[in-house]
Amino acid sequence: MLRYEEALSKILNSIEVLPACNVYILDAIGLVSACNIYSSEDIPSFDNSAMDGYAVRADDTYNANKNNPVILNVIDKIPAGYTSDFILSARQAVKILTGAKIPRGADAVVILEDTEAVDDKTIKVFKEVKRGDNIRLKGEDVKSGDLIINSGRVLTPADIGMLASLGIPKIKVIKKPEIAILSTGDEIIDIDKKLKEGKVRNSNSYSLYSLVKLCGAIPVLLGIAKDTKKDLKEKIKKALKYDCLITSGGVSVGEYDFVKDVISEMKGSVDIWQIAIKPGKPFAFGKIKNKAIFGLPGNRVSCMVTFDQFVKPCIYKMMGKTYRRKIIKAILKDSYNKKIGKREFVRVNVTKSKDGYLAEVTGEQGSGILKSMSLANGYLSLPEETSFVKSGSVVDIELFDYIEL
Ligand code: AMP
Ligand code: MG
Repeated sequence: MLRYEEALSKILNSIEVLPACNVYILDAIGLVSACNIYSSEDIPSFDNSAMDGYAVRADDTYNANKNNPVILNVIDKIPAGYTSDFILSARQAVKILTGAKIPRGADAVVILEDTEAVDDKTIKVFKEVKRGDNIRLKGEDVKSGDLIINSGRVLTPADIGMLASLGIPKIKVIKKPEIAILSTGDEIIDIDKKLKEGKVRNSNSYSLYSLVKLCGAIPVLLGIAKDTKKDLKEKIKKALKYDCLITSGGVSVGEYDFVKDVISEMKGSVDIWQIAIKPGKPFAFGKIKNKAIFGLPGNRVSCMVTFDQFVKPCIYKMMGKTYRRKIIKAILKDSYNKKIGKREFVRVNVTKSKDGYLAEVTGEQGSGILKSMSLANGYLSLPEETSFVKSGSVVDIELFDYIEL
């Protein structure tokens, strides 16, 4: 049976980065830039005051102090957003507010707190200023021609602000993937239906929707397909307009597990089936018309684990990103026994202790015991060859990336 690492690299290699598209900057956060952006302007675009105060000629304030103030004539006032036509001469000042353009002739700003108004037209200045004091120079943040955003960068809130500052409303980014989600099974009913004997509520669509959303992609729910080839074909056909499809259930060896057959009958390929992992062994991966299809097992834990291990890195790749797992060292509280031959993803809860991080197995580890996931905040990923881990061992834990410790 295919080993975990081999399967992951095979799947990842067959996934392509999605094409670029133009989006409004408010929709671009977290997406990957598909272009270099150079500034065509200086920011700020004019010399302006960093403080509320008076624009002056620095030489006029020479030696000014509390006991020996300098007297200046106030000839104008400039609120932010306005300019003055005056040109400052010796012994003159212009009242100026933060962000307003420095008037010609002035070369410094005295802050309001270091002055006193004698009357409407006269101030006392109590502090000497040097040329350039309290002035924000044109281009001090960004110069025309500067590289602002490089292709491949994951856009941050500051990048969005920078684009806005430059008057750029749209940016070319790698498309946000739309991921179709289809549950399968005659026993599966939706959560607004009354639970009849023999039926099971659809939880996989809901956990998968949430997992896809946390990746920064767009989940699209396609409902529940019956365990018939006809219904599966119809629903899978609908999914092909999206960037990829995740199914849950119907990929094992049961009589009604038709997902793989249907992919083949729809002229697709089933490239991978069954991986030496626990939980999640029946996992299938294939393509129809170059659209990736992840056939996840139906069991509620297997479905989430195989998403985390295989689908998530692929969604990141589609978005032009590399998924990096958050790994921490922790001390394993209890011993753990496993069978040789499969990689096992043991769900653990990690807590901080005075000796460092402590990892505790979250009880019964069956592939349908969703509580083992809900109590967990990480995986203890145990290689195929491991058969036993002793209590007190220092182990690597893959933290769930949506959990803060
Ligand atoms: P399957 O892989 O189709 O054999 O399903 C394995 C187990 O997972 C069965 O017990 C199913 O009832 C259960 N299961 C399948 N799909 C879902 C789902 N969408 N929500 C909750 N449980 C499911
Ligand atoms: Mg089924």
